[in-house]
Amino acid sequence: MKRYGVWRLLKEGLTGDRGWEPVWREPEPKRSYDVVIVGGGGHGLATAYYLATEFGVTDVAVLEKGDLGTGNVGRNTTIVRSNYMLGPNAHFYEHALRLWESLERELNFNTMVSQRGVLNLYHSDAQRDAYARRGNTMRLAGIDAELLNRQQVRELVPVLDYDDARFPIEGGLLQRRGGTVRHDAVAWGYARAADDRGVDLIQRCEVTGLDVEGGRVTGVRTTRGPIRANKVGLAVAGHTTEVARLAGIELPVESHVLQAYVTEGVKPLLDVVVTFGAGHFYVSQSDKGGLVYGGDLDGYNSYAQRGNLPNMRHVMTAGMAMMPCLGRLRLLRQWGGVMDMSFDGSPFICKTGIAGLYLNGGWCYGGFKATPGSGWCFAHTIARDEPHPLNAAFTIERFREGRMLDEKGVGPHPWIQ
Ligand SMILES: Cc1cc2nc3c(=O)[nH]c(=O)nc-3n(C[C@H](O)[C@H](O)[C@H](O)COP(=O)(O)OP(=O)(O)OC[C@H]3O[C@@H](n4cnc5c(N)ncnc54)[C@H](O)[C@@H]3O)c2cc1C
Repeated sequence: MKRYGVWRLLKEGLTGDRGWEPVWREPEPKRSYDVVIVGGGGHGLATAYYLATEFGVTDVAVLEKGDLGTGNVGRNTTIVRSNYMLGPNAHFYEHALRLWESLERELNFNTMVSQRGVLNLYHSDAQRDAYARRGNTMRLAGIDAELLNRQQVRELVPVLDYDDARFPIEGGLLQRRGGTVRHDAVAWGYARAADDRGVDLIQRCEVTGLDVEGGRVTGVRTTRGPIRANKVGLAVAGHTTEVARLAGIELPVESHVLQAYVTEGVKPLLDVVVTFGAGHFYVSQSDKGGLVYGGDLDGYNSYAQRGNLPNMRHVMTAGMAMMPCLGRLRLLRQWGGVMDMSFDGSPFICKTGIAGLYLNGGWCYGGFKATPGSGWCFAHTIARDEPHPLNAAFTIERFREGRMLDEKGVGPHPWIQ
C-alpha cells in the first residue's frame, strides 16, 4: 500500500497534487466470492477490512448500491463515546473506543480522531443520581467517567447559560476519552485499507435478491448480475428491514429520519461535545469552526434522506435553551439520514436462521461510534460462524425471549439485562 507520509505530502503540495493515484480500485464483480458484504457504509467496510486483516479471509466483495460513504457513515455528527451502562453495550462500545484510539496508525489515514470529551448535562437531583449510577457502573467496567458539579461544568464549558437557563444546569457526566472522528475519512480509510488487502469494493451495485437453497444462502442477485457466495453479511443500516425481507426475515426495526445541522464557522468556542439533559440536543464544534448539532428523530417512518421543519424547530428550541448564543449564528447546512431503530435501542450482530447469512443492524442513533467494534465483531461472527463474547447478546432472539437491552431505560423493564 502506498503509505502517506510527510515527504510525499510535501512533494505533492509543491507539484500541484498531480501525482496521487486513485485510493481504491474499481473492479468488475467476480462471479463468486467466499464472503459478500452488502452495504458499503462504515460497518460494511470495517467488516471487510477485519475479515482480511484479523481472520485471513480475503476473497471478499463489498456491494454498495450508491457510492462508498454516502450513507449514514458520511451523514452523522461524528460523536464517539463508550458511556453505556448495560454490560453488553458497555464492553462492546469500549472495545470500539479502543480501536478508535489506534485507528489512524492502523489505517495510515488521518481520520481526525479527537478525544475532546463528551459531557452529558444534568438538570435535577434525579438525573444526577441516574448519571452517578451510570458513571459508577462504567468505572466498575474499567471505563472512564467523571461526575462534575455545576462549577466544574462552568469551568469546562463557559459558553452555556448558567444564570437564566430555562432548565438550570446542575452538573454533568463527563467521559474524557469520548470525542469526535471525521466521519467520511473513516469510510475512505477503511475502504483504502480493505482494497489494499484484496477486497473488491463494488460501487453502484444494488442487491435486489438473496438466494437461499435448502436453508443455506448461496448468493445474491444484484443490478450488476448474480454473484454466488458461501457467506453473506448484511450491513445496510437504515435499509436493514428491506434487505432482510429479501430472505423472508421480518425484524423488529423501524426506519426513521434523523437530521443534523451545521452553522457558519466561528472562532473556537466549544472544545467538548455537550449533550443537553433536559431534551434531546447535542453539539460540538468542527475543526472548520461550524457548530455541528442535532436532536431527536423526526418521529415518522421514512426512507427519505431529508427531514422536516417541525423537528428542526424543536431542535433549535432545545439548543437555545442550553446555549442562547446559538441564535446569533447562521445555519449553513442541514441534512437527514435513515436510522434503523430497534425496539430496545441496541444493535444486532448475529447469525440468522439461514445458514451463512449474517445480520448487522439496529444501530439507531449511535452506530458511528460502534464502527470499528462492529466491523471487528461482525468479521469474527462471519469468519468463525459464531459470535464473539462481545456481541453474543446482540441477537434477534432477544425480542422473542424477552431479554431486552433497554439502554435508554424507558421500556417496561428499564435497565434489566
Ligand atoms: C444525522 C445523523 C447523525 C448521527 N450522529 C451520530 C453520532 O454522532 N454518533 C454515532 O455514533 N452515530 C451517529 N449516527 C448514526 C450512524 O451514522 C449510523 O448508525 C451508522 O453510520 C450506520 O452504519 P453504516 O455506517 O454502515 O451505515 P451507512 O453508511 O448508511 O451504510 C449502509 C450502506 O448500505 C447501502 N445499501 C442499502 N441497501 C442496499 C442494497 N440493497 N444493496 C447494496 N447496498 C445497499 C447504503 O447505500 C449505505 O451506503 C447519526 C446518523 C445520522 C443520520
